[in-house]
Amino acid sequence: MTTPVYLDYAATTPVDPRVAEAMARHLTLDGIFANPASRSHMLGWQAEQAVESARRQVADPIGADPREIVWTSGATEADNLALTGLLRANRARGRHLVTSLIEHKAVVDTAKALETEGFEVTWLAPGRDGRVTPDQLREALRPDTVLVSLMAVNNELGSIHDLASLAEVAHAGGALFHVDAAQAVGRLPLDVERLGIDLMSLSGHKAYGPKGVGALYVRRHPDIRLEALIHGGGHERGMRSGTLPTHQIVGMGEAFALAAAEGEADQTRIAALRDRLLAGLDGLGGIHRNTDTAVSVPNILNLAFEGVDGESLLMALRDIALSTGSACNSASVEPSYVLKGIGLPRTLALASLRFSFGRFTTEADIDRAITALRHALDGLRRQAI
Ligand SMILES: *Cc1c(COP(=O)(O)O)cnc(C)c1O
Repeated sequence: MTTPVYLDYAATTPVDPRVAEAMARHLTLDGIFANPASRSHMLGWQAEQAVESARRQVADPIGADPREIVWTSGATEADNLALTGLLRANRARGRHLVTSLIEHKAVVDTAKALETEGFEVTWLAPGRDGRVTPDQLREALRPDTVLVSLMAVNNELGSIHDLASLAEVAHAGGALFHVDAAQAVGRLPLDVERLGIDLMSLSGHKAYGPKGVGALYVRRHPDIRLEALIHGGGHERGMRSGTLPTHQIVGMGEAFALAAAEGEADQTRIAALRDRLLAGLDGLGGIHRNTDTAVSVPNILNLAFEGVDGESLLMALRDIALSTGSACNSASVEPSYVLKGIGLPRTLALASLRFSFGRFTTEADIDRAITALRHALDGLRRQAI
């Protein structure tokens, strides 16, 4: 059996070998393995130094101060901490949150949980391009709006939010602005000062770092206080307790430094690969672009294949690793809530696949995918006749 072509980088990226090497130096007795909170010996100080150097590697590319970075177990936890931590700490100020229908589940489900705690959520419906407009946000704001949470890059569509304009509107309305940037690192410039971001969730494994580590950027400002969700020891200035996983953190730091150095070149190369795929499918007919490529990152491409079922197409493409975005319930297959959220008809949503490319994708990978797709579509459409 041949190795499948990996076109599911938006689900997770492989760890860059340079990152894996750095991580391996922080695990064993001959490496830097000690508890970074150990103050009584040199090995602890060395581990602390490794953590602080990684903190700078994560802070620098986003224009943050290292003291504004709080380590977490991933972007899911960062989203939970940002929304729940901020709203619980600011009950006196208000109880209203604004977000969108197509956020990652880490934001959607956290917002739903907050609704059961008595907070109120306004769910903005994006346009067909996968974006909420500043005017929509302006209309949703209320005097008691505490927080606006919108993602930088949508994980199913690749659509990019106009963060600077949205932040300006949020601030003019007296609200703080949180951004889930898990899909944006190495894909977009993310300067928190220039964009006006108050809180930003980051993930290691969407940017060639390891799974199980992430961070929340928290602007240092007297108005921005978070209630901790995880208690025990007061690590990370009381915002997130727990022994810091040195090797994970070093890996994320190295990955973010590489993203800053190589992200732009990666994206230029990847844009050509995406165009190669589109050109290769040209003339097939019945292919609908769910991704509006004019306002999206080049590494994510969501396509609908008229007249076929996405799950069957996925089955027919055994040699290509990609995803439909739909969730299988026991009873039925439900279309992706993101595709539903941009108003795509149910049949098209159920006929959609997400292609996502990355640092290690080659032209040969794309060519294999084109051949496999042409073959699979031909077979499925012939059956349907
Ligand atoms: C993957 C992802 C997350 C979750 O990140 P983890 O580090 O896996 O917890 C959150 N938001 C978006 C947009 C993502 O793509």
